[in-house]
Amino acid sequence: MRLETLAVHSGLHPDPATGAVSPPIYLSTTFERAPDGSFPHGYVYSRLGNPNRAWVEEALARLEGGVEAAAFSSGMAAIMAVFQALRPGDHVIVPGDVYHGTAKLLHGLFSDWGLEITVTDVWDPDQVRRALRPHTRLIWVETPSNPLLRITDIAETARIAHEAGARLVCDNTWATPVLQRPLELGADLVMHATTKYLSGHSDVVGGVLVTGQQDDFFARIRFIQTQGGAVPSPFDCWLLLRGIRTLPYRMRAHSENALAMARFLAAHPRVEAVFYPGLETHPGHEIARQQMRGGFGGMVSFLVRGSAADALAVAARTRLFIRATSLGGVESLIEHRASVEGPGTRAPENLLRISVGIEHPDDLIEDLQQALA
Ligand SMILES: *Cc1c(COP(=O)(O)O)cnc(C)c1O
Repeated sequence: MRLETLAVHSGLHPDPATGAVSPPIYLSTTFERAPDGSFPHGYVYSRLGNPNRAWVEEALARLEGGVEAAAFSSGMAAIMAVFQALRPGDHVIVPGDVYHGTAKLLHGLFSDWGLEITVTDVWDPDQVRRALRPHTRLIWVETPSNPLLRITDIAETARIAHEAGARLVCDNTWATPVLQRPLELGADLVMHATTKYLSGHSDVVGGVLVTGQQDDFFARIRFIQTQGGAVPSPFDCWLLLRGIRTLPYRMRAHSENALAMARFLAAHPRVEAVFYPGLETHPGHEIARQQMRGGFGGMVSFLVRGSAADALAVAARTRLFIRATSLGGVESLIEHRASVEGPGTRAPENLLRISVGIEHPDDLIEDLQQALA
């Protein structure tokens, strides 16, 4: 089945009690036992499992081409579960431009807990090879990355990980399974902040992990999900599944619009540089073309000629682009990344990041034009 069809039909089960086509929201925390003590519908207690969560996990697993998915109450809760599934003393390799929340979690919590962490340029295979240790258990990739949209070769990094007996985990939040399917490229586990494109309307916080195989590592993740309890509510799951229905069409619009913004910005005299893997001039363009399909995503970063104040002044003048952090919603957002990440940020001070929405591209270009004037 093709992706557009999978997005509509995965986890779609008309309600046997009423015939309702849109799924009901099952708020019940507990489920009735049969007289023989069994649970005929498979549900016991909602932390352990709930119909809305089961449907959205089914949909996410199918979209990523995985065998199973575990949904969490946020992207960070999903990331936390991956590192908790390791053991103290294990070694992990993470990119220098990993999502800033992931970096904070690793350095603020997991180093005390005994995880050995090497931060390196994961987009450079030689640096990954040099960072390997005998007890390396996990390599983390995020491609395209934040905020410079660096591209990492997933297949190559998976080979390096597997030769070393480690797993490759890919944060696929920015690309989504519409544009990039890491499990097919050799990754072992895919992570998403479903807060972003998957839900798509800036109205639900969530995360998911999708595995390519049933193994002990995913069993530990499932244990952390159900016993640790950072699970999404039934309504969160309902919203997420509703968002997934239109994901392939939204990603097409996000990608087309972002390419139009990147081309416009690249030709603008007040812009020093544009970071978008869809531009032929982007250093990761060739790899992105091979491992992504149907577009390069909706995120674009650019440097305004001048200082932080000049960049902030451009963001202050936009009328359609909303000044807010986050990404992946239907509406376009703009942010000064260094202000959001705070001290220690790697974002250049004159960098603005845009999450390009699905408005008409000409309206978006006119807005950037007047803001840069
Ligand atoms: C937003 C985001 C996260 C964290 O997700 P939350 O839902 O905010 O916890 C992780 N990785 C990437 C790439 C993100 O954009």
